[in-house]
Amino acid sequence: MTGHTPGQAPATAGQVWAHVGQPFTPDSWDVLVLGAGRMGTAVTLFLRDLRPEWRVLLVEEGGLPNEDGATILAPGLWTLAGLPEARHAEAQWERAQLEGRFGGAGGQARTLLSLGQDGEEDTGARLARHPELAGVVDPAGAPRAAVHEAFTYRPGALALAAGQAAVRAGADLLLNTRASLIPGGACLERLTVTNTHQIVTHETHEVRAPRVVVALGAAGPHATEHGLGVHTRHARAYRQTPRLNVPTSDTTPVLHAAGLTLRPQSGGVTIIPPVHHRDPHGYAPQGGHLTGVPTGLRRETLEDLVSALEVLPALATDALETGRSLADVPGAWLALPHGDPAGLPWHGEVAPGVHLLLGGPQADTLGLSTAYRLAAQLAGVALPEGWAAPFSPR
Ligand code: ADP
Repeated sequence: MTGHTPGQAPATAGQVWAHVGQPFTPDSWDVLVLGAGRMGTAVTLFLRDLRPEWRVLLVEEGGLPNEDGATILAPGLWTLAGLPEARHAEAQWERAQLEGRFGGAGGQARTLLSLGQDGEEDTGARLARHPELAGVVDPAGAPRAAVHEAFTYRPGALALAAGQAAVRAGADLLLNTRASLIPGGACLERLTVTNTHQIVTHETHEVRAPRVVVALGAAGPHATEHGLGVHTRHARAYRQTPRLNVPTSDTTPVLHAAGLTLRPQSGGVTIIPPVHHRDPHGYAPQGGHLTGVPTGLRRETLEDLVSALEVLPALATDALETGRSLADVPGAWLALPHGDPAGLPWHGEVAPGVHLLLGGPQADTLGLSTAYRLAAQLAGVALPEGWAAPFSPR
């Protein structure tokens, strides 16, 4: 692992340090990428594509992919519905990548039906083609359906594929290592588990590099503030994605109704509530009460479900898994680029040489392309034709 100099292309696969038994010696890297969710793995891979002579180190606190990250719990719903026209070409590029280079990432094409008061089709007639949804939707509450194209996939599979491809292409990968920012680089704590199941720091290293990409998901903005004293407008929110046990298949459409998205998944449905607002610093998610009974759903999520009951009567049945405590309901912290619930994935240089890369709620459609934007900027390469010009408010 010694003897490389920046600017020299490694001829073979990169090195992987999975546990502290494998000795790690800081070396010189051209780029440090912190966080191996879908954003960090993708930017690492694209950097290897665009600048094969650059040496890249990807650092992750957990494994690949990490069970706690936003990536593994993301709905994996690619759609142009609601996306500004100027970003469509880029979203189409992303879909071509998902289906091509990443082998579909465990996904497939589906229809998305947006149910409401307008739309070109009659909801009742359209749903008659999908008897499995008979008790789920009451067409009286949303009589019209707009039909969109969608692609559903597994973001965890994407991160794994991108991470493995990046290592095969020569990137180095340091797992089970917590990173914090220091001027000009990162402090890396290699973690290990004691025989009493405590996570402890085994050793600490400081590594410097001319370029650092902060792809720590919802933890990214705080990390730049804490380590570098840089304040940004970005925020985070906790999003729960409860399960609705109604039968679905590969041909069941995705539904948008009453503000919720119902994504067919593993023979049931994952409910994706909207993100309403940023969660204040220090907020710890807690389950709310439904008619006096504790549930694992936070209050905001319960309110969203209750207000959708008229259109989606299945939410009032036992088919909805409300859980008893927070741990029973899948949920993850999401970055909110620009602090805005509708914020699209974003990257920007927040300190000299330090680039913050945020996926957030729309990363299923524009995450890969945003990682590519950053890789292209760092590599000094033009963006593909038809992509909107870069934008960069902090
Ligand atoms: P994104 O969609 O931006 O990729 P994720 O939350 O999936 O978001 O990914 C962020 C990754 O960063 C996770 O895998 C998480 O484990 C990792 N991470 C978070 N904080 C740290 C840290 N301090 N050091 C190293 N890795 C971290």
